[in-house]
Amino acid sequence: MARKGISIIKGIEVEEVIKLLNRAYADEWVAYYQYFIEAKVVKGIMKDAAVAELNQHAADELRHATMVADRIMQLGGTPVLHPKKWFEMANCAYEEPTNPDVLAILEQAIKGEQCAIEVYSSLAELTWGKDIVTYNIASQILADEVEHEEDLQALYGDIQEFIDQFKGNR
Ligand code: FE
Ligand code: FE
Ligand code: MG
Repeated sequence: MARKGISIIKGIEVEEVIKLLNRAYADEWVAYYQYFIEAKVVKGIMKDAAVAELNQHAADELRHATMVADRIMQLGGTPVLHPKKWFEMANCAYEEPTNPDVLAILEQAIKGEQCAIEVYSSLAELTWGKDIVTYNIASQILADEVEHEEDLQALYGDIQEFIDQFKGNR
C-alpha cells in the first residue's frame, strides 16, 4: 500500500473507490470468460472474423482485469479472491451464449460492451479531480470498451450486409 500515493486522493473515500474497482474487476473476468467461450462456440457466416475479434477482446478484458487488480492493491484493497463472487459483484450480466449463431453472439457481446462503457464512464466521472490515477485507468479502459463496441457493431453490420446481398442475388 502506497501511503503517499493514497494521501493524494481527495473528496472521495478510498474504500468506496476500492469497492467500485472490485465490482469492475468482477466484470472484467465475466467479460473475459464470455468472450473466451463465445470464440469457441460461435458458428455461421464470417465465423473466422468473429473468432479473431472475440479472442482479441478476451485478451483485452484480461489486461483490464490486471490493470484494475493492480490499482486495488495500490489502494490497500484486496481484489476478489474467489471466482464465485464474480457473478455476485459484477455490474454487467453474464450472457450465456446458448445460441451459437454469429449474429446472436455479436448482439450479446455488444450488450456487454455497452454495460462496460456505463461502468467505466461513471467510474471516470466519480474519480475525476479526486483520484487521478484511478481516473486515468478508468478512462484508458473506457476508450478500449468504446473501441470494442465499435468493432463488434462494424462486424455485425458487415455480416448483415453480406446476408442481405446474398438474399438479393438469389
Ligand atoms: Fe474490459
Ligand atoms: Fe470490452
Ligand atoms: Mg477489437
